[in-house]
Amino acid sequence: MSSIWAGDYWIVSNLIQDVSRPAVLEQAVARLHGGGLVAIPTETVYGLAADVQSQTGVARVFAAKGRPADHPLILHVAADSVLAQWAQDYPDYVPKLVAAFWPGPLTLVLPRTNAVPDTVTGGQDTVAVRSPAHPVAQELLDRLSSGLVAPSANRFGGVSPTSAAAVLSELGAYLDPQRDLILDGGNCHLGLESTILDCTGACPQVLRPGAIGLGDIAVILPDLLTGQAGQPGSLGEGPVPRVSGALDSHYSPRATVRLAAATQLEGWESTQSRQIGLIADHATRTPAGWRRLLAPASLTEFARGLYGALRAADELALAEVVAVLPAADPAEPLSLAIVDRLTRAAAG
Ligand code: AMP
Ligand code: MG
Repeated sequence: MSSIWAGDYWIVSNLIQDVSRPAVLEQAVARLHGGGLVAIPTETVYGLAADVQSQTGVARVFAAKGRPADHPLILHVAADSVLAQWAQDYPDYVPKLVAAFWPGPLTLVLPRTNAVPDTVTGGQDTVAVRSPAHPVAQELLDRLSSGLVAPSANRFGGVSPTSAAAVLSELGAYLDPQRDLILDGGNCHLGLESTILDCTGACPQVLRPGAIGLGDIAVILPDLLTGQAGQPGSLGEGPVPRVSGALDSHYSPRATVRLAAATQLEGWESTQSRQIGLIADHATRTPAGWRRLLAPASLTEFARGLYGALRAADELALAEVVAVLPAADPAEPLSLAIVDRLTRAAAG
């Protein structure tokens, strides 16, 4: 039994385990093999992991998240794993991306092999693969010598968790303490989901923006960028329907999220019975009576704190959150990712 500080109260649960206890990772591996679910820390957000080879485990991920069966899961692999086990006939640029960015927050969508179960790919002929950089995730993957499916450890459409306490509050009611575990590896370093890159065509396409941007990719694949008729940055940032994180509404707290320019804030009325929460960079003044949820001094702080701030709005039972978006700047991939997530949160 352990207890964890959720910001305002202690949560007591035997689901959460401290990863510094030597036997915990062994226990996690045994549970994964037996169809258990293990929430794992990664550098992006917490994932709800199951052994890719356990049909029971994979089915339980969909059930715990309340996720529709046709939404594919990202396969997580060890940094030194053999990609050919899971993917085949992919373009020549793929190994270059793997060498440059793994382990790290870059997910590659590739043509799959038959080793990947249909349930994982939503019946598609592609698989999304990434190697997470968090040492706990890597250690677990090394010990498993297989792969883990690990969608974000939240109910479908909800806010991704960036701490073990957030996983517990999202999924505690849907996990079985006899079978499942939450590994506490601290707060996620990046705080936003990985960049997803479609690597099935001659040129990679960004399906979901994240910490790694086209500029970073262009450094590794300069030929592909110059191949784009001299249009830097046009590697292809298009909307793609198959990606569940690309639904118009996603990443949504219960509170209504509205987007605003800093100059519009005074127009809103915040009352004691209907208090408004504010998410905006630190230079934006908090109007009288509002509840400040996040005041980041950098894009890194914005990304790291965003989901915790949305979660705090619900814990405070706020009806409304107003968010001031950072300027979307292609040279700052985090700005695009923050704008993307907040725009979808506002559509929910
Ligand atoms: P999450 O469940 O929050 O980790 O998000 C996983 C994302 O990866 C979702 O948006 C999935 O739709 C996307 N994804 C997984 N597999 C594929 C695939 N084969 N093709 C396109 N997107 C994928
Ligand atoms: Mg998700």
